[in-house]
Amino acid sequence: MLRVPGSFTYARARPVTVEVIRNAKSMNLPIKLISTDFDGTLFAEFELPPIPDSIVTLIGGLQSRGAKWVINTGRDMSSLMEALARSRIPIQPDYLVLVEREIFFHDGVRYVGVPEWNEACARDHAELFARVRPLVSQLMDWVNTRFRATVYEDLHSPFCLIANNNGDADAIHEQLNEFCRGVPGLVVVRNDVYARFSHAAYNKGTALAEICRRLRLGVENVFAAGDHLNDLSMLSTTRARWLAAPANAVEPIKAAVRRQDGFVSGLHCGDGVAEGLRHWLETAGDRTHLQR
Ligand SMILES: [Mg+2]
Repeated sequence: MLRVPGSFTYARARPVTVEVIRNAKSMNLPIKLISTDFDGTLFAEFELPPIPDSIVTLIGGLQSRGAKWVINTGRDMSSLMEALARSRIPIQPDYLVLVEREIFFHDGVRYVGVPEWNEACARDHAELFARVRPLVSQLMDWVNTRFRATVYEDLHSPFCLIANNNGDADAIHEQLNEFCRGVPGLVVVRNDVYARFSHAAYNKGTALAEICRRLRLGVENVFAAGDHLNDLSMLSTTRARWLAAPANAVEPIKAAVRRQDGFVSGLHCGDGVAEGLRHWLETAGDRTHLQR
């Protein structure tokens, strides 16, 4: 037994450093891993509830049959936890991909980083950003002299952008792509008016592939849904057989999903993802969810 002074006593906790992987292959389900972006895909800030019951019920039902759910987001841990707590949903993701690059899993008690992936990710970014940092002030000057925008450095990137509008963000994005062509391994990660730099080897797509590897699943078992440009790396049939986008997704995302025979919903955010997930479950011959 583990005793916390002045608190309560609870049964032996599972070791926090050991990832819990059930044999996902034994499940009688065509979709064994559900990868969803968060903002604009599941979560609509000004809706009530912000994550609709349609998708909560569906994901919860699939989890109860052994499927895993990963929230694959650009948010960091505290920002995502705060938004999830505010959403008051009765289910929790099995995996998190945070800042579009770091992988965490729920060990039954808390979210724990996948050490080998996250350490390599941190090391590769530190090495890359050390080469980029001396060039960044020139880039910030270029933005500031042409646009009303916010540029700054944070823990995750030596250059971060909040543009005033999407038109400005498009123009600045082009310049950032030009800048990246001069730095091998550097890429821009764009989400709406936000952008930052990242290492080309770490994104929502490669993180999803790593989770598949850990769960011993192939792309034919994976569903992915997203709404913006930072989702492109996972909205690919090289990462997920079953693709979906909600009605509010930006045009390049809808075009990419359609090009790969994915499902573009007429419904917004979580309702659209629920429609896409239901569509693919039915297409793949699973009708159990219809009986719920
Ligand atoms: Mg989004």
